[in-house]
Amino acid sequence: MRKLAFGYSTRCNIRCEHCVAAEDIPDNKKMDHTRAEKIIVEMARAGVGGISFSAGEPFLYLNEIAGLVKLCSQMGIYTRIVTNSFWAKTAEASHGLVSKLKENGLCQLRLSYSRWHQKHVNQENVLNAAVSCQKIGLDYFVSFVTDFSLEDDPYEQFLRDHGLLFFPEPVIYAGRAASFKPRRILTDYQANCCDMNPYLTPDLDMYACCDAGNHFPETDFFFLGNLNDRTMEQLFIITETHQLYSLIRTMGITNIASFTGMKSREIITYGKCQLCRKLFNSPESLAKLRNEVSRLAAWSR
Ligand code: SF4
Ligand code: SF4
Repeated sequence: MRKLAFGYSTRCNIRCEHCVAAEDIPDNKKMDHTRAEKIIVEMARAGVGGISFSAGEPFLYLNEIAGLVKLCSQMGIYTRIVTNSFWAKTAEASHGLVSKLKENGLCQLRLSYSRWHQKHVNQENVLNAAVSCQKIGLDYFVSFVTDFSLEDDPYEQFLRDHGLLFFPEPVIYAGRAASFKPRRILTDYQANCCDMNPYLTPDLDMYACCDAGNHFPETDFFFLGNLNDRTMEQLFIITETHQLYSLIRTMGITNIASFTGMKSREIITYGKCQLCRKLFNSPESLAKLRNEVSRLAAWSR
């Protein structure tokens, strides 16, 4: 099923130190609402079955997003909203907003949570939002962004103490987090395959990766094109037929790194997106991989 991260606006009301969505420059772009409606209809025709409203903070445009969610529901598209829960200051306020979105057909809320988010938003807000979802019967989960340091223990314990559904998500060392000291990796030699759901920006640029991949300025490796120049169907076909993207999905970043000659001992010191950046944000490394893509594709055990 085709899925897409829909960046209706890059505006956010807080400024997390770890945010990949923006570098130092304030970025407050917003899509035209009527155009967004047309894009959703086009996406449904292109077989998109799931949309995640992400990028900035979608609740800053609640009425507009609620309208888009309703349209998606009418077109049979699964919807998720990613939010920092700033709006859930009280149980009542939270209940009202979650009910409204559920009535519009929202399928899931993803609540962002971390020691960086919680410098700006009380963790009780996240609890209020999650409890509202539980009471109203809306699917939710907490996305617990962590660098796996001791500092994060109390934040994880809060989620456990309240029995909230959560999934740890490694911090991505890009955007504002690019200057963070990367953690010491203590894990297996794993494939690091990626689903690679595309990301649509408010400017209608589409990227093959919705996470750090739109921050590869040296090569623009994941840039697919702009919706003003191509159709949604054409942009999806580009991402689905691109040889290196396909290998990221099936072979994984780790095997590609090994193919380029990186030592295994060095590979395991990188996080997934860091390794991806090393391979694909370097013009030299990318040119080499492009030249040798057929040999890479045949490189299997
Ligand atoms: S991580 Fe999310 S909540 Fe934090 S500044 Fe970025 S977009 Fe806003
Ligand atoms: S590893 Fe690469 S493709 Fe996967 S999420 Fe990170 S930047 Fe995107």
